[in-house]
Amino acid sequence: MSPVPKRPWIWLSILLIIAISVSCTRRPQPPVSFPTTPKDCIRSSHDFVEKSKIHIVKKRETLYGISKMYDTSVEEIARVNEITEPSSISSGQLLIIPGESVSNIRWPLKGKISSYYGRRVNRGLHTGIDIPASKGTPIRAVADGLVVASENKLNGYSKYGRIVILEHRDGIRTLYAHNKKNHVRSGSCIDAGDVIAEVGSSGNATAPHLHFEIMKNGSPVNPLRYLP
Ligand SMILES: [Zn+2]
Repeated sequence: MSPVPKRPWIWLSILLIIAISVSCTRRPQPPVSFPTTPKDCIRSSHDFVEKSKIHIVKKRETLYGISKMYDTSVEEIARVNEITEPSSISSGQLLIIPGESVSNIRWPLKGKISSYYGRRVNRGLHTGIDIPASKGTPIRAVADGLVVASENKLNGYSKYGRIVILEHRDGIRTLYAHNKKNHVRSGSCIDAGDVIAEVGSSGNATAPHLHFEIMKNGSPVNPLRYLP
C-alpha cells in the first residue's frame, strides 16, 4: 500500500498553484472573428441580375404593339406592371418588360402575390410585394448573406412589425416583414434557402402575409425585376 500523505491540503495547494501558473502562461487565443461584411458569408454565388428591360411608352403605342416588339404577351406586361386596363397606358409611362430570368436567387416563399410593387391609390408607393400565407409558414433567405437586422420593431420600419434584413453582394439588401417569429440573429451568416422567419401579421398588417422588399444601394426596387 502506498503511503497516504499526511497533509493532503499541501498537495492540493501545490496542484492549484501549478494549474494557475499554466493557465497564466498559456498563449493568448486569437480573437473570435465575427462576419462583418456579406463577403464573409457568401459561399456560393447568388446573383441578383435584373431580368427585365424598361420601355418608355411613346405616343400612339399600344400594349399589344409593345408586347410584339419584345416578344412577350400583353398579359405578362400587365401583370408585372400591375395594369388592370391595358388601354390605359399613356405616353411617357415607364413599363417593365419581363424577359429571360438570369438571377439564380430563390423565392422567399411560394404563393400568389396579393399586392405588387408600385404606387397605390391614396397610399403612396408600395415598396415591395405581398405574399399571403398562413401564420407560421417558413420564410426562406433568397440568397446567401449577412443578417444586418432581426428585430421585433426596427426604427424607421415600425409599421413592418417583426422584421429581418439581409445584406448580399453588390449593395443588395432583402427585407422580410410582418413576421410572427424571427429565427436568426443580427451578425450571423445565412445560406440561401435557410428558414429565417415565420409568416405573421405583426406591425400594421391586416392579415398574415410576407412583405418582401429588395433594396439596391438603399432604395427599394421592384422585386419582380430580380426574382426568378
Ligand atoms: Zn407590403
